Amino acid sequence: MTKHTTPNTADVIIIGAGVIGCSTAYHLARLGISDVIVLEQEEVGSGTSGKSAAMLSPHSCDDDWSLRLVRHSWTRYMEFEDEIGVPCGFRRTGWLSIADAAGAQEMERKTGLLKRHSVPVELLSPDDIRRYYPEMRTEDLAIGAYTSEDGTLDPHSIMWGYLARARERGVRLLRGVRAMGLRLRQGRVEGVETTAGLLTTRLVVNAAGPWAPEVGRWAGIDIPILNRARCIWVTGPFPLIPSDRPFVDDVGRGWYFRPEGPGLLIGMGVVPVNQLDVDISRQLLPEMIEVATHRVPLLEQASILTSWTGIRPLTPDGLPIIGPMPSPEGLLLNVGWGGMGLMQAPVAGQLLAEYIAFGRPMAFEDAIALEIRRFCDGQNSPD
Ligand SMILES: Cc1cc2nc3c(=O)[nH]c(=O)nc-3n(C[C@H](O)[C@H](O)[C@H](O)COP(=O)(O)OP(=O)(O)OC[C@H]3O[C@@H](n4cnc5c(N)ncnc54)[C@H](O)[C@@H]3O)c2cc1C
Repeated sequence: MTKHTTPNTADVIIIGAGVIGCSTAYHLARLGISDVIVLEQEEVGSGTSGKSAAMLSPHSCDDDWSLRLVRHSWTRYMEFEDEIGVPCGFRRTGWLSIADAAGAQEMERKTGLLKRHSVPVELLSPDDIRRYYPEMRTEDLAIGAYTSEDGTLDPHSIMWGYLARARERGVRLLRGVRAMGLRLRQGRVEGVETTAGLLTTRLVVNAAGPWAPEVGRWAGIDIPILNRARCIWVTGPFPLIPSDRPFVDDVGRGWYFRPEGPGLLIGMGVVPVNQLDVDISRQLLPEMIEVATHRVPLLEQASILTSWTGIRPLTPDGLPIIGPMPSPEGLLLNVGWGGMGLMQAPVAGQLLAEYIAFGRPMAFEDAIALEIRRFCDGQNSPD
């Protein structure tokens, strides 16, 4: 591919500058494909990527594929500063899952899965759980599991780090420019209609996160994204809970919490939404207060500093959709990263760039199982 660029044309156009679009741009440039435009309708990270709980956590994985993708990305994040020149902001917190009797069997299954993938994990009794979190009420808990590897990332350093290295190699970022449609001819992509006019290209990457189905509709394709809203609240400074406590996933009650600066970050919600600019924080607040003060009674004394709502673009089988569309020719997908897109961004960008450079994924050759064809062939699971 040529590196020569003209303003309104590019070898590849990426729609979306969330963490997936930024990683894709960087990995393309790394493979020598730098005549690339990244289109962002608002600001870098203004979609889901700027609203996450920012965890890098093998422990959050429920299946083999997720663990393979996270373990690969884990290694890439540990080398991020050497490769990209800025830190990814990793800070180890540990991850503690807790469950009542109804959730015990699933927790044991998941612990077995983690062990099979060489993730050191410890099964805990309620007394052990209190050792890790003395402020927690545990009478109604049956089991816990703890991993020490997990921690937080800095999403903005990651996005801007990837973009900086990509732009050095010639990738162009257009902020505040919205893609409005695809220009198609005889079954293949010819360009992207945007608020700044037509941009011609033969390859378009849909990295539009929760907006991905809209891009699909421009080509008459139904991309099976299930958008689910989740709310994050951050408390004011709360010294009653030390800042070295682990991330806690209260599985049965559907909420999680971890230290955030001098306070705590709390997350909850799996609310189906059609509109993407929703705010569900008021709707979920009473339930959040109920479960939080039940589990950690000290939280009755906490105040809420701020909150926001983000959209997790899930898929029917919980796995991302990556690779080319059978048609139109020239449209590729890097979508459906659900609640794991930040922690899996390195492998997401790498795989998609390999599809464009080599015609197939190479980091995991069997990642062709993650293409959209699995939803078209009546084949539901890529296991
Ligand atoms: C509350 C919450 C907690 C989460 N916690 C974690 C976590 O702890 N760890 C983790 O790994 N993941 C977590 N996630 C998931 C993670 O945030 C997402 O998987 C990831 O950010 C998806 O990135 P993306 O680039 O696909 O989407 P986005 O970040 O949404 O990026 C898509 C971009 O495309 C742009 N766009 C859309 N349409 C157009 C258009 N027509 N023209 C131009 N631009 C367009 C949007 O403006 C947006 O910036 C969480 C998500 C939420 C909501």
